[in-house]
Amino acid sequence: MPQLEPNASVRSIKGIGPTAEKALQKQGIFTVRDLLFRFPRAYEPRGNVILLKDGTNGQKAAFKLTVQTVPRQVKTRNGMLLLSFRAADESGSVEVVFFNRKFIASQFEIGHTYRFWGALHRKGGRWQISSPDFEEVKEGVVLADYVPVYALGENISRTMMMKWTTEALACASSLEDILPEDVRVKHKLPTVSTAIKEIHRPQNEQSLKNALRRATFDELFCMALGISLSKNAHQSFRVPSMAYADPTPLLETLPYELTGAQKRAVNDIYRDMTKKEADGKCPPMRRILIGDVGSGKTVCAAIAAFLTVSNGKQCALMVPTEILATQHYKDFLPLFEGLGYKVKLLTGSTTLAQKREIYRSLSQKEDRTDIVIGTHALLSDKVVFDDLGLIITDEQHRFGVLQRARLKERNEESHLLVMSATPIPRSLALVLYGDLSLSRIDEMPKGRQRVDTFAVGENYRQRLLSFMDKQVKEGGQVYVVCPSVEAKATEDEDIENEVDLRDLFFKTKESAPPLKDATTYAKHLKESVFPHLRIALLHGKMKQAEKDATMAEFAAGNIDILVSTTVIEVGVNVPNATLMVVENAERFGLSQLHQLRGRVGRGLKKSYCILLSDSKGETAKARLSVMANCYDGYEIAEKDLLLRGPGDFFTFSESAVRQSGGFSPTLANLCAESGLLQEAFEAAGELAKLDPNLSAPEHAALARQVHTLFSINESTVS
Ligand code: ADP
Ligand code: MG
Repeated sequence: MPQLEPNASVRSIKGIGPTAEKALQKQGIFTVRDLLFRFPRAYEPRGNVILLKDGTNGQKAAFKLTVQTVPRQVKTRNGMLLLSFRAADESGSVEVVFFNRKFIASQFEIGHTYRFWGALHRKGGRWQISSPDFEEVKEGVVLADYVPVYALGENISRTMMMKWTTEALACASSLEDILPEDVRVKHKLPTVSTAIKEIHRPQNEQSLKNALRRATFDELFCMALGISLSKNAHQSFRVPSMAYADPTPLLETLPYELTGAQKRAVNDIYRDMTKKEADGKCPPMRRILIGDVGSGKTVCAAIAAFLTVSNGKQCALMVPTEILATQHYKDFLPLFEGLGYKVKLLTGSTTLAQKREIYRSLSQKEDRTDIVIGTHALLSDKVVFDDLGLIITDEQHRFGVLQRARLKERNEESHLLVMSATPIPRSLALVLYGDLSLSRIDEMPKGRQRVDTFAVGENYRQRLLSFMDKQVKEGGQVYVVCPSVEAKATEDEDIENEVDLRDLFFKTKESAPPLKDATTYAKHLKESVFPHLRIALLHGKMKQAEKDATMAEFAAGNIDILVSTTVIEVGVNVPNATLMVVENAERFGLSQLHQLRGRVGRGLKKSYCILLSDSKGETAKARLSVMANCYDGYEIAEKDLLLRGPGDFFTFSESAVRQSGGFSPTLANLCAESGLLQEAFEAAGELAKLDPNLSAPEHAALARQVHTLFSINESTVS
């Protein structure tokens, strides 16, 4: 039989015909290699065998049981073939049943022991395991501790995936290794073929972790090289230097002095944009401004915009939501109109006629718009600038390194300022913002009050309700944030006891209390608890106009309690709101909770944040206690990284993950060994020095991989 080739079509795998090929292609799997790089999404921890007496009703687990009775087959009333026998371990016995598995009976023999993987169920006073997976326990046969679970596509069964991957693994040894050998050895990484074999058929937890470490290293290494390539490319762009413009006219209109941190940030920005090299030009600025909620980033952006328009150029400010766009517009308008500049707002709900007028006024010299503020509508092809000097993005958390490539591509000639209130742990800043220079606003404006925070359980609800009532009576307003919009069916019980990649390193799965949904809860509050109060609902599925109207009503003080999802997370400013209640707080990332908390405490009144959670999980408890004891965004982010790993800081679209091959940037294990990121970036830096464009023939496979990673992610930006 001819040797299987990684680059050959999946058709060359035994058992894959035209139908299976089509099904795999739908999943983006075309070659044997693609199949090998489609990692399991989780593992069943079958090595963790428990005794029957320790099993709980409905939970999947592994049991080692010896068959005690001859398997009996009967036809049930509804025509199914039922096979059953008793099996026991030292702690008790159980009935094992299978349905419609005609040929299975002969596989069980009295006195033989099998490892079963299935859920124990109590059926009419008796314990039963129904349709478990099983493997015979035999001398000399080692059973795997971790059994892979693959994400299955349409018409692809688990058995098929197991069979095909087993076949495909035959050629794992001929996979091309993208890592230079010296790098691999230096960082004590397994070869790609060892790693791939382990990931599909782990021998034990340690070897699986090593393999994932290798996969993560590759991803980071490629990302670092991509960033470096993009920096190189970027260095070749030149823009005319801007002339210094004294911001005093703008600052004079502010009712406050800039903080020291704001001044430093503004200096950084001015330095980048007014830099003058020998040719009178400079590479465009690419800077990120990170500062906690309320640290005053907006005014820094306004000053950057001021420098831009003073130099006769235009500025675009892009934000994720219409609410935030409107708010920035209201902040910018008085500052700039007074100075004679034209500011416009462009969002999805701008009327067509207005849009046309804005498009026109952006592209023409005559009666030109100087500053445009808007949502993704700004990315429309119809938006053409006469002379765009600066792009600012605010709170675009989901706007990573790779996504920025697209913005840059459209506007290579402009300066770029990215603003974010998501405090990123230092170690991750490299990955997320490696292509940007960094300014941090690490100082709050004077006189900011602390939002007292309490993590409480369900038993506190009555008191919470009276507290909400009291806040409203005293003239305050309340936010209630729920994790979902509408009641959802319970989650798939099957995933309950699987170990996903992240779980190998962090305990992320804990018994989850039922979800509160905003719609039901708002109704409940309105009808049964506070009929005398004005209660409204706000969520992402509402029409934009409705959302805006509701938010405006809340800002005007015409709503007492606003029940919402996280749509209020970013940027909303209602100084009269004094209480933030978060339901199912265990569901949120700490940084997100920190953001939500930042919605209150914006005025003079004392403000509070109550985090409700009935989770019994240790991690959940530890995390919420961080919130109650810590008020510094960075410290919170660092702790979240330790407790939950870096996954929460990365948001990759489902399709990007799928296309790049299953595993992809969950970077799950990174933190178990936080030095890995540093290692990968340093290794990439060294390589980039030797071969800046990855043009050496021995780096061809690596270069391909880097380009694939970047182009895939770019093309999935919405
Ligand atoms: P964020 O960094 O979260 O975007 P904002 O720019 O919205 O913060 O600023 C929050 C509030 O603080 C605004 O009402 C703004 O007017 C005010 N502010 C900004 N800078 C200062 C300062 N130096 N002193 C006092 N208040 C300030
Ligand atoms: Mg802001």
